[in-house]
Amino acid sequence: MSTRIYPAPIYGPVHSRRLGLSLGINLLPPDGKSCTFDCVYCECGFNKDRLPKLKRPSRSEVAAALEAQLRLMHEQGQHPDVLTFAGNGEPTSHPEFAGIIDDTVRLRNSYCPEAKISVLSNATFIHRQDVHSALMKVDNNILKLDTVNADYIRRVDRPVSPHYDVRQIIAGLKSFGGHVIIQTLFMKGTSGGKSVDNTGDEYVTPWLAAVKDIAPSEVMIYTIDRETPDHGLLKATPQELDAIRDRVVAAGIPCTASY
Ligand code: SF4
Repeated sequence: MSTRIYPAPIYGPVHSRRLGLSLGINLLPPDGKSCTFDCVYCECGFNKDRLPKLKRPSRSEVAAALEAQLRLMHEQGQHPDVLTFAGNGEPTSHPEFAGIIDDTVRLRNSYCPEAKISVLSNATFIHRQDVHSALMKVDNNILKLDTVNADYIRRVDRPVSPHYDVRQIIAGLKSFGGHVIIQTLFMKGTSGGKSVDNTGDEYVTPWLAAVKDIAPSEVMIYTIDRETPDHGLLKATPQELDAIRDRVVAAGIPCTASY
């Protein structure tokens, strides 16, 4: 298996397609993957194959490691464009997430005030007030909404909780009052013998209606970029992504497509 697991709590900096020179912050254990979703396209692999044995980094460990790395980069004249919370699972699942965001804002302001703070999240904890408030403090609150089709979500994003309800998630996304960027992965191919193509009208039209309802500051659409644990998946084409992007832009919402 060539899916990847990230060091914790800091990795990179890496050049990101969507974000620029990005210093990664991984709030999950460094020896496996743990997520509230189990996406068939996850570059970290399936949850069951990558069960971590180590603990998550604590808030104080994250702050110390981040400060050391930012100081080093500062001394070397390296300037991150963005400090990105991502890595081996869902960052907002960390019990000290809100405090970690406060620390990160303080360290960013001290070492690289021009850098943005981005959180890449699957939105499963946005109902928690502490997580919601913390996400309001970051520059790029990037939350996943691959589709509004409940069956597709069960087959592709595969939330671990049986209580996941996309309608509640959409209501939660709306509650950011526009301080949210929607990220959506479009792809084709099959998983478990069933199509996972969400590029057609039957998926895009209701998804776009939900996006308009949420009224985000921006939408980022993209497709598979790295090896996926499910080998039946295929990239959406640039033409397909561009056509979806154009529909979002026509609705008055800025949108980028990454191939
Ligand atoms: S939400 Fe992200 S980290 Fe979690 S399983 Fe899906 S792709 Fe992987």
